[in-house]
Amino acid sequence: MMDFEEARRRLVELLVAEGIIRSEKVKRAALNVRREDFVPESERRYAYEDMPLSIGYGQTISAPHMVFLMDELLDLREGMLVYEVGAGSGYHAATIAEIMGEGRVITTEIVRDLALFAWKNLNKAGYSDRVAVIACDGVKLKLREKPDRILVTAAAPDVPHPLLELLKDGGKMVIPVGVFPQKLLVVEKRDGEIARRYVTDVAFVPLRGEWGFNRR
Ligand code: SAH
Repeated sequence: MMDFEEARRRLVELLVAEGIIRSEKVKRAALNVRREDFVPESERRYAYEDMPLSIGYGQTISAPHMVFLMDELLDLREGMLVYEVGAGSGYHAATIAEIMGEGRVITTEIVRDLALFAWKNLNKAGYSDRVAVIACDGVKLKLREKPDRILVTAAAPDVPHPLLELLKDGGKMVIPVGVFPQKLLVVEKRDGEIARRYVTDVAFVPLRGEWGFNRR
């Protein structure tokens, strides 16, 4: 039987030393969310290797360093509404809920069975009161309330226009765009103006649906 607690602590220390985890609240979330509970049984023993793992359907849960790099870039505060495109396992959404404490996350997933997988994982881990999972093309969902933050965990050809519209003024979006190696961007909306900042090169699965690479 593997000591997951110890493995988690070691990985978090490594990510702090590497400068990926920079804030106390992201560190706390990294220590509190059990990645082993968000991966298929066969992948559990690799839960604290800093690499993406298969979650079936050709999709992956991102490597921990990518999850926490994006969480730091999102600049999360208590009480925010965060919108995610690409629920996958639900792990990233759980870390966001954990960082905010009070706050709500809406996560979307285009693969129906994965939406169910994410929902089951989140429910079991105790996040179902703060995280909602919706099976749909996350770029096209209409919401009544504009989110403070948008996280996209699949690479889009470019920043999808509907997501720019959806983002609250003063809000931020973290999104990978382009073809391999994709560019991780922080997009900010201020007084209706859009500013994009390049952060680093990344490797994500492609976004699907109308605004993605694969329209099926
Ligand atoms: N954030 C996830 C990892 C996601 S991998 C985690 O923590 O595990 C990217 C996911 O985006 C895949 O599951 C893929 O099916 C989903 N996806 C791709 N295009 C999408 C779209 N248009 N809307 C919603 N989800 C999408």
